Amino acid sequence: MVMKTRKIPLRKCVACQEMKPKKQLIRVVKTPEDVIMIDLTGKKSGRGAYLCGTEACFKLAHKNRSLDRALKSPVGAEIYEQLARDFVAAQDEFIASQSVSEDDE
Ligand SMILES: [Zn+2]
Repeated sequence: MVMKTRKIPLRKCVACQEMKPKKQLIRVVKTPEDVIMIDLTGKKSGRGAYLCGTEACFKLAHKNRSLDRALKSPVGAEIYEQLARDFVAAQDEFIASQSVSEDDE
């Protein structure tokens, strides 16, 4: 029996506080220009916060203002509205990309 001990980078979801593998989370980033956006590539520079790839966690983050705290910046209502739209789109893309990477392995 061989146990794989490959380390998976874990990140904490700012909404439900669960530690999860990075690729199961969606990154929200505040860029150096103070623009808050969803970063599906995970490579944008700036302060990042992670959320589970589910609408439920996004809604929880909105309710608890978890993103504001994680990004150390007030997130305006219009940003949340935009994120809500982007998040649903991102969630679909995210799920699609997850199933693609599973096929690769
Ligand atoms: Zn979560």
